[in-house]
Amino acid sequence: MSALKIYNSLSRTKEVFTPITPGYVGMYVCGPTVYSDVHLGNCRTFISFDIIYRYLKYLGYKVRYVRNITDAGHLEGDRDEGDDKFSKKARLEQVEPMEIVQKYTLGFHEVMRLFNNQPPSIEPTATGHISEQIEMVKQILANGYAYEVDGTVYFDVEKYDREKPYGILTNRKMEDLLEGTRELGGQDEKRGRLDFALWIKAKPEHLMQWPSPWGMGFPGWHIECSAMSEKYLGKQFDIHGGGMDLAATHHTNEIAQSQACFHVSPANYWIHTNMLTVNGARMSKSAGNGFLPHELFTGNHPLLEKAYAPMTVRFFMLQTHYRSTLDFSNEALQAAEKGLKRLWDAYEIVESLEYGVQDLVDEALDQKCNDLVTEFDNSMNDDFNTAKVLAAMFELVPVINSFKTQQLSVGNIRPETFERLKQQFRVYLTDIFGLTSVKEGDNGLLDGVLELLIQIRKEARARKDFATSDKIRNELQQKGVILKDNKDGSVTWEVA
Ligand code: AMP
Ligand code: ZN
Repeated sequence: MSALKIYNSLSRTKEVFTPITPGYVGMYVCGPTVYSDVHLGNCRTFISFDIIYRYLKYLGYKVRYVRNITDAGHLEGDRDEGDDKFSKKARLEQVEPMEIVQKYTLGFHEVMRLFNNQPPSIEPTATGHISEQIEMVKQILANGYAYEVDGTVYFDVEKYDREKPYGILTNRKMEDLLEGTRELGGQDEKRGRLDFALWIKAKPEHLMQWPSPWGMGFPGWHIECSAMSEKYLGKQFDIHGGGMDLAATHHTNEIAQSQACFHVSPANYWIHTNMLTVNGARMSKSAGNGFLPHELFTGNHPLLEKAYAPMTVRFFMLQTHYRSTLDFSNEALQAAEKGLKRLWDAYEIVESLEYGVQDLVDEALDQKCNDLVTEFDNSMNDDFNTAKVLAAMFELVPVINSFKTQQLSVGNIRPETFERLKQQFRVYLTDIFGLTSVKEGDNGLLDGVLELLIQIRKEARARKDFATSDKIRNELQQKGVILKDNKDGSVTWEVA
């Protein structure tokens, strides 16, 4: 098997993945800001990292996956001023800021569950780690890379850049970065145009504030991820991820903070997922073009022609490599719906097939099956290329279908080839890609329950208890579920 290669945003090349401690991977992903619902763009990023997490585990690594919840400190716009988004929303809805946090955290978890994303190993919150953030700010101050002005602490970007390249992650020089910022005005406290706040002084009426050596305040936008990644993964860890939009500011500042505090760059591999777009424009909370997952699942949005099941959406995302942009459209989702059904049907066929006796082995067919299955791992090892895996799977579908129609027999390939095909199809679709039943909206539960009923019916028939077997069949039919007894002895079901 080829070695896993990851495109590292820091080096801008694909590198062979070598973890710091053999067998273990520490991965930190910037999580959601829970002052409103996550939109589908956010979900793309979290689904991409869920696949990466699952694949690393498939490779045998023990993975500690940390994904934070940002529940404090995000200010309006891109400036170090104004109210934070949590306080603003809380005031608007006349509730406690922590009620906002609770509501949207629960909503986020529900959406992740519907998409069948596995929970991270640790999900730390910014408000739960205020003291760790304060300690880091103190150390950065002590090391001389920050300064305090009237209760607010700023990171001194120009001083830092004289020693370490500040724009290293996005390969930009200080002059270019400065060009994109406004001149400082008379009221500005900051010394440098690129300086950012590590700690922000709170006005008395500010709803979320904590005591600190610099007075009452709250953390800046970037320090939480530096403090929490250090706490749970150490000063240096393997993978840091997030959406591409975070690279230029948030992640750039995280690197500067860790260097200024601990004199090391936090992560060895930086993975950035590309944006989900709508008619070419990035989906974002502020642009107002963000579909909410439940709008998608119910079809309740003017831009949606119909409802789409969570698994259709997940599959739609997997059809594109995580570093390419993905444009949302009804046509693409409808094509994904068909594609997933085709693949899932093939999976069910291959699951129901048993290898009987070996026939005359068709060497070319046997080789083709083996090569395509080998493609699965090779494509994932090539920077997690899910799109290429799916292409190989789709090439196997006609072969599987011809086993079903008996144009070909499984005996035409070797038993070990058949077992490998069967196993890898299952492992990839369910364990690595995290796909469940394709029946609309049921997220696998219905499938599981029906499989159980089919099994009970099979057992009833085996002991000639036809009353029970007929009851199962007839009552399901009344509820609109048709059981089909296939010629090969398998039983499948469909909604009438
Ligand atoms: P936020 O809640 O805005 O902090 O975003 C949570 C995560 O979603 C971050 O990793 C963002 O980079 C990512 N993200 C935001 N918008 C999009 C988008 N349109 N497509 C993909 N990822 C996004
Ligand atoms: Zn972060």
